[in-house]
Amino acid sequence: MAVIFDIKQFGIHDGPGIRTTVFLKGCPLNCIWCHNPESQSENIEIMYYQNRCNLCERCVNNCPKKALKIKDKQIVRDEDMCVLCGVCVESCYNKALEIVGFKKDMDYILKEIKKDIMFYEESGGGVTFSGGEPLMQPEFLHDILKSCKKIHINTAVDTSGYTDFSNFEEIADLTDLFLYDLKVIDDDKHKKYTGVSNKIILDNLEKLGQIHENIIVRIPVLPGINTAENDLKDFYAVLRDTGVKEINLLPYHKIGKDKFKRLKKEYRADFLEEPDDELNNKIKEYFEDRDFEVKIGG
Ligand code: SF4
Ligand code: SF4
Repeated sequence: MAVIFDIKQFGIHDGPGIRTTVFLKGCPLNCIWCHNPESQSENIEIMYYQNRCNLCERCVNNCPKKALKIKDKQIVRDEDMCVLCGVCVESCYNKALEIVGFKKDMDYILKEIKKDIMFYEESGGGVTFSGGEPLMQPEFLHDILKSCKKIHINTAVDTSGYTDFSNFEEIADLTDLFLYDLKVIDDDKHKKYTGVSNKIILDNLEKLGQIHENIIVRIPVLPGINTAENDLKDFYAVLRDTGVKEINLLPYHKIGKDKFKRLKKEYRADFLEEPDDELNNKIKEYFEDRDFEVKIGG
């Protein structure tokens, strides 16, 4: 069984060709700019769309655990009392409540992946496991990668790199491509903005480069956090000896902000600006000048 929060078909940003991306729930990092905050907790959650809610109280009255109430003109859920039965979600005619996260078994997920097998073959695509951090569910990831390889589906794993290296060793032969996220090299900044040290991430990248040939490093473009000349030099100092040939730059955008609100979590990245084309291109040229293949976007 895996806890996932989405399966997206016909993606073109998470590896080559047309892909199905399976998003696993749970992440050891807590990046302030996260655009999928619903991926951070490994638990099933309930999202609340306040703008759709007319305070009709159907959910409050139907909740078997009396876990809901109206306060300050919005629905408030007592997480200790809630048993995530989903009755409130079904009660709401306005779709103001949504369950985020599902427990699904291998057969179900594999069946979803197999639906587009024809498109993978035509486009050189396949399946990507993303999150969250897919390596937080290492046994499931291993088993489903193995099943995909058995039927010759191209596999990619999108990872934060924050895991025991033994987990990479277990899946290296089953993974055609790693999409490896590097956010900030300065460890103090990394701790400040993601909640964890990057030591294990940098160590794992170096070791993974020794046992796997196909790694694309993904760098979020975060103006004022990782875009100064010194930051770029730091990235280069790490990347030049890893064997990595390709970099994807992922410009920061604010689309995660509303999701934080719906999950009743604080959004701490309001101070960040979305990077303009000039900055994105400047960083692209910096790495191209150092012989990396660079794409803006996934
Ligand atoms: S049922 Fe839906 S619209 Fe009615 S109060 Fe609950 S969340 Fe709001
Ligand atoms: S998920 Fe179930 S227990 Fe939780 S608030 Fe909704 S109805 Fe109540």
